[in-house]
Formats: sequence, C-alpha cells, structure tokens
Amino acid sequence: MIIAVDGPAASGKGTIARALARHYGLPHLDTGLLYRAVGLCVLRNGGDPADPADALAGCDFSDAMLGDEQLRSEAAGAAASRVSAHPRVRAALIERQRAFAGQPGGAVLDGRDIGTVIAPHADAKLFVKAAPAVRARRRHDELSARGLDTSYDRVLADIRERDRRDTMRDHAPLAQADDADLLDTTFMGIDAAVDRALSLVEARIRTAGRD
Ligand code: C5P
Repeated sequence: MIIAVDGPAASGKGTIARALARHYGLPHLDTGLLYRAVGLCVLRNGGDPADPADALAGCDFSDAMLGDEQLRSEAAGAAASRVSAHPRVRAALIERQRAFAGQPGGAVLDGRDIGTVIAPHADAKLFVKAAPAVRARRRHDELSARGLDTSYDRVLADIRERDRRDTMRDHAPLAQADDADLLDTTFMGIDAAVDRALSLVEARIRTAGRD
C-alpha cells in the first residue's frame, strides 16, 4: 500500500506520515529531506540555490548527509525551497522517490508533489493544511524548544514566502491531487489529526476493497 501525504510547511504532515507508517508497518520517506540535502550542499559549496547549475551540482550529496542535523535548520529549509523550483533538480530526485514508493509492500511518503507527481496511483492520498498563523506558531514553538532564538513574525514571514514559492512554481507545485482527502489541522491537536488521518486512509482502503 502506498500512502501519499502532501502539504505546506508545519501543517503536521510529517508527524501524520510517521504515525501512519508506524500504524501500517510501512517504511517512511520525508522527501523534504532530499531537497534540504541539495540546498545544504549548495550552501556548503558556496553556491547560490537560485542558480540552476549550482543547484544541480548539489544533487550529488552523499547518503550520510541525510542524517545531518543541519538539515533541520531554517537556512536549509529556505535553500531547499529555492533549489526545488529547478526542473532538473526535481528530475534528479524523482527516481529515488519512485523507487522508495515502489518497494514491495509499499511505503508512506510525505512532501509537496507525492500525490500529484511521484505516486499518482497511491492507494490513499492526504492533503494536510492549516492556517499560516497556526503553522507559524507551531514552527516557532518547535524552534524555541530547540533553543533557537527567532521571532514569531519572522517565522510567519518565512512560512508565507515558502508557501508562495512552493505554490507558484511552474514544475510540480504544491497542490492537492483531485483524488486526495483534505485534512485541515488548524483547530486540531496532533492526536486528533492523526486519528482523522487514519480514518480517512481506512475509508479509502475499504472503498478500494469494494471496487
Ligand atoms: O517539507 P520540508 O519543509 O522539509 O521541505 C523543504 C522544501 O523542499 C519545501 O519548501 C519545498 O520547496 C521542497 N519540497 C518539494 N517537494 C517535495 C518536498 C519538499 O519541492 N516533495
């Protein structure tokens, strides 16, 4: 079974995807980490994430990089959102994601274009969203808990900017697939969001079983 979970930054999609993977005993891939690895690689090479050639060179990152703590930094996230707009970067990462989705038994993947581009035939698709102010509050709390000093207004501005870039880009923009279930977590705690996600996936599996 393949489960696709898409949505903007800090919508809760990562936590939901991990919970679904645990529940169904499936491997999970956070595809944002791949774009973050490219972005971080470009920054470390002294390149410009907005430059297509610099961004493509960053696709050569080593597997060890996927465990790098710095991938979680806001700088890596901002660079990721820039490199991800280049079609050749997206093309360089597509096979790896499709191979992960296609492994025997299936997988859970979360990102921006899983239900639309990477796994359009996924058995269940969720599009997770939440109001920008709520996502900024969550992200700010998370950064503060990690001891990182940044203002709520700055985090909100970054989230809005990232949303704009992710939804407006020409290639594989952030979008809800026609057959995805919408899950709005604005007024939900994480436990309620996970419960809802599970019942949406279960309903999809039941419907598919009747076809
Ligand atoms: O999910 P996360 O915030 O880690 O993703 C970082 C950036 O990588 C996003 O802002 C987006 O631009 C890009 N991304 C993407 N497609 C994916 C996953 C992430 O374009 N499937």
